[in-house]
Amino acid sequence: MTTPEISLRPQLLSGTVYLLPAEGGNVGLCAGQDGAVWVDIPQAAEVARVQAGVESLAPGPLKFLVNTHAHGDHVAGNALLGEQMPIIAHTNVRKRLMADQSITVGIKTVIPAQPPVAWPRIVFDQALTLHLNGEEIRLIHFPQGHSDSDVIVWFSTANVVHVGDIFWPGMFPFVDVENGGSVEGLKQNVAKLIELLPATAQIIPGHGPVSDLTGLKAYHRMLGETTDWICKQRRANKSVENIRQAVPEEWLTWGHEFISTAAWVELVLYSYGM
Ligand SMILES: [Zn+2]
Repeated sequence: MTTPEISLRPQLLSGTVYLLPAEGGNVGLCAGQDGAVWVDIPQAAEVARVQAGVESLAPGPLKFLVNTHAHGDHVAGNALLGEQMPIIAHTNVRKRLMADQSITVGIKTVIPAQPPVAWPRIVFDQALTLHLNGEEIRLIHFPQGHSDSDVIVWFSTANVVHVGDIFWPGMFPFVDVENGGSVEGLKQNVAKLIELLPATAQIIPGHGPVSDLTGLKAYHRMLGETTDWICKQRRANKSVENIRQAVPEEWLTWGHEFISTAAWVELVLYSYGM
């Protein structure tokens, strides 16, 4: 059990870029003399701890909060922080936060609509670059993958990138196939990301430990091989239950509390219309 008194120590990754591993997800941070840029807040209860951690590094004014996408465990700080600093995100984050987001495939949840203070004030469609603390921060949209509002936050000087939920190291991903996401799109986006990033980049995923290109490539192989296998079984008229039971042993360790092997099979079949 974590209490607010226990501070969240920022971990230096490179240059002015830090990781704050908050409860429920990874907060990225660029902190220096120009102020601080935060990336994602997984839950409202973590805002105070994150804020204390940020202030220990950058006592200057807060500058920007960036959302990697519209899911509740990435925008949970928006309502508390929206009056203190502008929120930047893809255009679809603003649209999604204005209404309830209902999810029934893979997981079952409703992400309630957020109040206007939580809506991003600066939105973009394809790309936007920020220059602070001597860092070039490139925000790049990857369409129709994990969701319809995914952006990566690439601190290109420090060679660190926060990729939100595009990448789940060693885990089957959740894909929001009912709200503009796609398993095939995610696979293609990960391939693009592998081409784009330098071999030595440090990669912050939305959840789990910091990874690298080797981890991203292993994840891409899993996406390709498991989706091919699942679709092939379905074309051979195997029942969903049969497919779930027969997933090759190599991939079973990729199942986890949030997305089990059975949930991954369900997501893939739904996404490919099978
Ligand atoms: Zn997500």
